[in-house]
Amino acid sequence: MGLLQTIKEVVKSLKHKKISEKLQKYCPRCGSKNLKEETRWLILPLPYYKCEDCGYEGPIFMEKEEKS
Ligand SMILES: [Zn+2]
Repeated sequence: MGLLQTIKEVVKSLKHKKISEKLQKYCPRCGSKNLKEETRWLILPLPYYKCEDCGYEGPIFMEKEEKS
């Protein structure tokens, strides 16, 4: 297998992974799905989450795999 073929395989698996990883973000305080993602610029751009149900704000969220 050539290098190009190897890269193609890696890209393919990455794409597949993205599709199969359907993760839903949840509020760590109340478990609500109404979590809004924002980017806050501190020293580095950091993801920041706001809950519309309980007013939680912070960089932490809960993640669950959505089962359809
Ligand atoms: Zn909440």
